[in-house]
Amino acid sequence: MARHGGRGWYGRVFAAAIGVTTVAAVTSVWTAQAGPASGAQAGAGVSASPSPGSPGSAAAKVSVDIAHASDHGARGVNITVDDGPDPTWTPQVLKVLRENGVKATFCMVGTQAEAHPDLVKAVVADGHRLCDHTVSHDTGMDKKPEAYQSQQILDAERMITEASGGVRPVYYRAPGGAFTPYSRDLAASRGMRPLGWNVDTKDFEKPGSAAIVATVKREVGNGPTILFHDAGGDRSETVAALREILPWLKQQGYSFGFPVR
Ligand SMILES: [Zn+2]
Repeated sequence: MARHGGRGWYGRVFAAAIGVTTVAAVTSVWTAQAGPASGAQAGAGVSASPSPGSPGSAAAKVSVDIAHASDHGARGVNITVDDGPDPTWTPQVLKVLRENGVKATFCMVGTQAEAHPDLVKAVVADGHRLCDHTVSHDTGMDKKPEAYQSQQILDAERMITEASGGVRPVYYRAPGGAFTPYSRDLAASRGMRPLGWNVDTKDFEKPGSAAIVATVKREVGNGPTILFHDAGGDRSETVAALREILPWLKQQGYSFGFPVR
């Protein structure tokens, strides 16, 4: 699923990635709304601490602006992992994240989530957040009718939430950055903050783990949200790169957060 190829979307994504400064103030909104029911899934391996997306938390509308900032502030980075879950690679990514004490955001494809609910639950149990990455990863969906965009977003939301055992995705990342004003508004109305990225590791092109590491080191100054993949082919380079770059980022004084909501 190296479906990020081609150049048509890149300029749009690039503009979206660097053209928006996100307001961190919205992070307080969901915190205040996480009610006592949030801990209801504790017995299913989900953290008892209130978190956005927990069962019982309302799908309150969030900002329609494409988020890039980290809730850890200026020295925070957001690790985002797209296109899974995948039975081979997701467990390996989870292991590296766990070994480094890093929480990440997993942008899941609906059909993948539906096929591997155990992996969705494992992601949630480790304290990571879920992100809606549509049903079928159509990077041209911004050219399609609104009814199609709606189906892609809402069906994936349902598939991911069912697979997780009730924990909702709290972000929406359009495949290839193919956002539209309509899709951003729809996602935001469901409590899913549109999510961009600042650093594209291009790991899906299999450039070698050293190149993936070098891209992060070179571009992390561009912004905090870093894009990796845990599906769509052999992701051993991604796993190896994460094993190297996570300790490096820590050494540089970065901490690991979530994208602002
Ligand atoms: Zn993707």
